[in-house]
Amino acid sequence: MDLIEKLTIPHRLQKSMIFHSEYCQEHTYIKNGQETINPIQKMVIEGQVICPRCELEKEQKALTNKVQAYYDDIQGQKIYNTFFNKSIITDRTILSAAFENYETSIQEEIQNKNTCLEIAERLKSGQIFNTFLQGIQGTGKSHLAYSILRKINDAKLNKSCLFVNVEDMMRKIKDSFSNRESRYTERYFVDLLSKVDFLALDDIGAETGAIDTDKTATDFVQRVLYAITSTRQDKATIVTTNLNSEVLFKMYDKKLVSRLLKNPKYVLFKETKDKRLSNIPF
Ligand SMILES: [Zn+2]
Repeated sequence: MDLIEKLTIPHRLQKSMIFHSEYCQEHTYIKNGQETINPIQKMVIEGQVICPRCELEKEQKALTNKVQAYYDDIQGQKIYNTFFNKSIITDRTILSAAFENYETSIQEEIQNKNTCLEIAERLKSGQIFNTFLQGIQGTGKSHLAYSILRKINDAKLNKSCLFVNVEDMMRKIKDSFSNRESRYTERYFVDLLSKVDFLALDDIGAETGAIDTDKTATDFVQRVLYAITSTRQDKATIVTTNLNSEVLFKMYDKKLVSRLLKNPKYVLFKETKDKRLSNIPF
């Protein structure tokens, strides 16, 4: 390339850019505190009249949207995984619980399963209410509570679900009193259980030990449940318990129980036998 050719490159480039007589009036700047139009001369590219600034802004917006979608996706995945990563489960078999594998043999079980399916749909649609699954041990209350949450979580509504065995949570908090390394502090659980959109408190009442109607929950248990329920008044909570409401009122602070029982949907097991006992061969 000789010197003359080098010197003419800008000139040639200038020549290949075809400016149009129109000016785009969409762009402004601030002059003396006033928004002032900054006219941008349009160009002809491949036979089309375009504003170079508008084109650039369009591209930047597309890129921003792409980045935003990427982060939304990561955030959505994180919310979805809350159910799997943060739930506190004692009985590992519950991890495979779903409506599809809830076995029904008597009318009550069929009806309760249908009620829970309906509850899942209503919660998915945005209705907010509490659910109270009550009956003797081993009737599949936890199975159904977990199934409701699974159904909601699988819908990927960007809403977090959490299943917590109350006794196990209380044990973990108690352990954290003497173990400073533990992440499972009272603060951790109160924050987590307050924040999630859908919470199942599994087997409430069992954390006080052997069921004794005269026994009241310890101050520590009351304090934790009180803190959680007070922040969940506009959120849906599912409770499973072997105890009836009369016993719950005796064991816990009345305000706490009232919150949990505020306008709930009841799912009662009166006839269903203990599924685990019926599986033992004689
Ligand atoms: Zn423009």
